[in-house]
Order: sequence, then C-alpha cells, then structure tokens
Amino acid sequence: MEKMTSKDLVQLEDKYGAHNYHPLEVVLARGEGVDVWDVEGKKYYDFLSAYSAVNQGHCHPRIVNAMIEQSKTLTLTSRAFYNDALGPYEKFVTDYFGFDKVLPMNTGAEAVETAIKVCRKWAYEVKGIPENEAKIIVCDGNFHGRTTTIISFSNDEDARKNFGPYTPGFIRIPYNDTEALADALKEDNVAGFLVEPIQGEAGVFVPDEGYLEKAQALCKDAGALFIADEVQTGIARTGSLLAVCGNCSCGNTCKKDPETYVQPDILILGKAISGGAYPVSAVLADNHIMNVIKPGQHGSTFGGNPVAAKVAVAALEVVKDENLAANADRLGKIFRSEMNRIIENTELVLKVRGKGLLNAILINDTEDSETAWNLCVALKKNGLLAKPTHGNIIRFAPPLVMNEEQLLDCVRIIENTIMNFEK
Ligand SMILES: *Cc1c(COP(=O)(O)O)cnc(C)c1O
Repeated sequence: MEKMTSKDLVQLEDKYGAHNYHPLEVVLARGEGVDVWDVEGKKYYDFLSAYSAVNQGHCHPRIVNAMIEQSKTLTLTSRAFYNDALGPYEKFVTDYFGFDKVLPMNTGAEAVETAIKVCRKWAYEVKGIPENEAKIIVCDGNFHGRTTTIISFSNDEDARKNFGPYTPGFIRIPYNDTEALADALKEDNVAGFLVEPIQGEAGVFVPDEGYLEKAQALCKDAGALFIADEVQTGIARTGSLLAVCGNCSCGNTCKKDPETYVQPDILILGKAISGGAYPVSAVLADNHIMNVIKPGQHGSTFGGNPVAAKVAVAALEVVKDENLAANADRLGKIFRSEMNRIIENTELVLKVRGKGLLNAILINDTEDSETAWNLCVALKKNGLLAKPTHGNIIRFAPPLVMNEEQLLDCVRIIENTIMNFEK
C-alpha cells in the first residue's frame, strides 16, 4: 500500500471520526523531546505539549522504557486483586506531594469527578450537611473536563448547550474574586471550593498575588474543602512543582515551603503525571477526608493499573532529576520578556501573560475574528505548533525539557511570524 499523505489522513478522520475537535491541519507521526515531525517529515517545535501533558518531552526514554518493561510483565489486574506496582507507586506519589492517600484514576475529568464525590461524601459524613444539600463553589471560565456533571457547572456555551438536564449543587462565582467567594461561603451547606490555580483553557488567567492564600483561608474558616485542580498547572508547568507552591525559593525540590505553599485539602492531578505516555490521573487528600470512601463506593477498571503506576513513577522522577520546575521558571521569565520586547514593535499583540512555561498572548482583534487561528497557521508554516484557546488568545506551552537556545530559536520564529503577518 502506498504511504498515506497528511491530506489522506485528514480526510480519514473527517469521514470516520466524530467532529468533536477542530485540529490545526498538521498530521504528526513522530515526536522526540521538544520536537515533532509530520507525515511528510517536516519538523516542528511543539508549543502546546498536548495541553501540558508532555511536560517531560515526547517519548522520554525513561518513561517509555518503564512502560515497555511493565507492559511485557503485567498490564491489568483490575482492583479485584492487588498488583505489585500499585502500592509502591501510592507510597511514592503521596510522599512526593505530601498527602496521606491517593485515589488513582485515568483521565483528568475522572479525577475531578472523584474529587467532587469525595467532597460531597465528606460533607454529609464528616461536616454533617443534610443529605443531597451539599453545594460546591466553582468559578466563571472554569475548565475541569467534559463529563455531564462537570459541564453542568461550565459557562462555556459550546461545552454545555443541549447536554442538559444538568447536575445541580454548584454555585458559580467570578474567578480571582475573594469577596464573591466570601459571600458564597456564607450560603448554607457549602462543602467545598473547586478552583484552577491558573485558568488554563480560559486563556491562561493568572489570578492576583495572594488570591489562592486568601481563598484557602476563607475556605478553612468556613469549614469548606479547598480543592485545587492542577491537571494543567501541576507537575512543574508553572515553574514550581505545583502552582499552589507559589513563588517558592526552593526551586525544584519545592515541597510545602511555609512562606509560599497553599495547602489544598484535595489536589487533582492528571496530564503530565504520566509525561503524556499513558492516561494517569490522581486525587490526593489526607486520611480525614479520603477515608470517607469505602470499598464499592468508587473505582475504575483501569485506575491504578501496573503500567500506569510504573509510568507515573518514572515521569515524576524525571521532573525532579531534570530540574524541570526550575527550568520552566527560568525560561518562562525569558519568554515573557522577549514577548514584551516584540509587543513594543507590533500592533498585532496586546499582551503576554502567564507563569513558568504556561503563557499566552492576547491578539489585538475582536473575540470572533480568525486572527489568532490564522497566526497559528502561519506559525505552523514556520515550524512551530500552537493553538488558540478562547477567542483571540494563543497559548504557548512547550515541553519543559526545552533549553535556552531552543527557546530563543522559537522566539525568533514567533517574532518573524508576527512581523510578517498580514490579516
Ligand atoms: C485538561 C484538564 C482537565 C481534564 O482532563 P482530561 O484528561 O482531558 O479529562 C481537567 N482540569 C483541567 C484544569 C484541565 O486542564
């Protein structure tokens, strides 16, 4: 059979796949580190990292080897039986993030669902909220995944419309607004506050300095659980191990620096916890919360499988051994300062914002214009892959294994593309 071209492959997806995504027209066939190659052999810098799942770079040999070795030995037992990889992983991951217990799942949305269930059960059995009355506070512009319950509290029309009836029990307030949070916490029967430390999908909204500290303190006073969804911001992406670590001075070893760490009651992780090799997600909490879950009350056939366990350990070891948090912090500062230099010389870009290597530029055009999309098409032609988020915002999130020379090469590509772009 003749080798299929990119065009053939796009047509296949178009014909046989549901149209639930609108991909940039590039068909990737190979990846290594910060680079990916299309079917025709053209090389690109990956500036999306599969929505921050590939923080450790494409096909990291340590992660891939862990996956291969374990897949040859034992792939799935279900949790009907014990397996010899899960316990060691559970000890490793709880030590790594400083919690008593972990509940292993597969995708980010499943982990968010898990956190919601744990929070509600805690509310009834520990806090004493009357049955079926628990409320969880969430934020405008949130993105927590695609399940029926999660889209019920989204305010993105595309995510929500015609998928009702919706799951009740959520109060939505503005993001980055501690007064609104204080008011909402005064309502009866509030069980928790679910928040992204930086809103990724909404367009990389970084809240004000002190927002998370204040929000956590308000939750504590009100006896509500502070639930951090770090599926996108976690695992070194924002320049510290977790975004709730804040601007800690301990770089890569960051763990609960009392000056900066904001302690979540429940921490949700996914994406880069596996380095993008395999679907792995995790919900972490201490015993007084996690122990509300008893046998038969929650689970997943694949959750905690031995391949996932081995892959996650390897992926998290890479984060520490290769100093990815410190690298993301340092390169992020260079990136934003370079973008600001470019912004001074163009009308096309209004602003850069972000933290570590989770950044976005705001394009100077209306919400519904195609400018951001067309700029991404031009970037692609010039060898760099990025994607617009909402409206006229382009997210820039390369793998964290990038070095300074590569980053500056990417800055040159972005600068040339912007300077030569015609609407
Ligand atoms: C991607 C994401 C999710 C959902 O993860 P999936 O693996 O796609 O289900 C949840 N929360 C945040 C903040 C995310 O960025």
